[in-house]
Amino acid sequence: MRAIVYKKPNRVAVETVPDPELELPTDAIVRITSAGICGSDLHMYEGRTPDSDGMRFGHENMGVVESIGTAVLNIKVGDRVVMPFNVACGSCFNCARGYTNACLVVNPDGVSGGYGYSGMGPYAGGQAERLRVPFADFNCLKLPGQPGDDFEDDFLLLSDVFPTGYHAAVLAGVEPGDSVAVFGAGPVGLLAAYSSLLRGAAEVYVVDGIRERLARAQEIGAIPIDYNRGEPCKQIQKMRSENHFIQGAQRPGENKMSGVMCGIDAVGYQARSFDDPKQENPIQVIEELVHVVNPTGRIGIVGVYFAEDPGGADKSAKHGQFRLPLGDIFEKGLTIGTGQTPVKKYNAYLRDLIIAGRAKPSFIVSHRLTLEEAPAAYEKFDQRSDGYTKVILKPEVSSIS
Ligand code: NAD
Ligand code: ZN
Repeated sequence: MRAIVYKKPNRVAVETVPDPELELPTDAIVRITSAGICGSDLHMYEGRTPDSDGMRFGHENMGVVESIGTAVLNIKVGDRVVMPFNVACGSCFNCARGYTNACLVVNPDGVSGGYGYSGMGPYAGGQAERLRVPFADFNCLKLPGQPGDDFEDDFLLLSDVFPTGYHAAVLAGVEPGDSVAVFGAGPVGLLAAYSSLLRGAAEVYVVDGIRERLARAQEIGAIPIDYNRGEPCKQIQKMRSENHFIQGAQRPGENKMSGVMCGIDAVGYQARSFDDPKQENPIQVIEELVHVVNPTGRIGIVGVYFAEDPGGADKSAKHGQFRLPLGDIFEKGLTIGTGQTPVKKYNAYLRDLIIAGRAKPSFIVSHRLTLEEAPAAYEKFDQRSDGYTKVILKPEVSSIS
């Protein structure tokens, strides 16, 4: 079958590789109808993760079950399914408590498994024609409808970025009436803003420096903040201080809460410096969140920070060590949540919101392409150029007009 394979920094290729096989009775083989390219793939693409050579990428996978092992009971051949990017056993101490992002069984070298990802176990990715799904009863979420219908792209986003955006809103404690600042208007940031609005937030600010992405944030009812126009926390505080209704509702002393109650980092360690956007500043977003979030507020960090980064700017950064404004964090009494999303915690509920017509996350999708078009798409998406916001590959299709 054909699959996307990592060759070297800034190069992937479409190659013919052996078809996956059922290795354990609990496995299924899924024929892929849609596979996303994720901002997380770009860290590997740019050579910013160890041990990626020859890896088959793709952790956002959906399709139709082609075969099942003898121990698979709840999923049938022909079922339409989407898989969390986490590979999880479903029954270890962590999975049983809902932390499928920290499965103790599937990765001999760590506490989480994933398809086609550095450090996340021996599982090939699904930017390919077929995928082996371990613990298929647990990891396949059943979907209604037919491949290629109106829900195809919405359902694909249940594999990662919609649950991740939602998880960010949960970590940031977003509740009805809250004010939220989301840093990053990539797929994750846009869906964090969308999820915050689904959860009833009153004000959602979205910070980025890319115009097309900020325009998408505005389309869903968020307030775009362009970091090229000055420090985002000051822009947000100014907007709030000039809003007569917000000001008119405040009692003495409440102007000390001039920022927002909830902050979300949907950027991670490759954050651009506001002073010089050509440069990275790995803690730019964290510092800004600590400024803009009010005392007693909460911060959700879903943007990735790696423990090992071969491309880090200095020795500390190469080992994922950064200076944190802990004094301010303590003084403000901020709560911070971090980590990989336990997709399984959310994917069934979010699927049902999609089915009921109450959520349409595919507004983020900019490109639908064939596998052959993937190497060029990686390049464009990596440059965040030409409106490339979210690419979905369609391995069964040979040309898309
Ligand atoms: P992306 O790269 O498309 O989006 C990141 C956005 O951040 C870009 O639009 C970029 O312009 C913007 N940005 C850069 N520096 C900034 C700054 N200083 N302030 C504000 N915005 C800035 O990626 P994505 O697919 O949206 O993913 C975002 C992050 O989430 C990545 O780090 C990805 O690895 C991570 N992620 C985490 C999980 C998880 O389980 N926690 C899952 C999926 C993705
Ligand atoms: Zn992803």
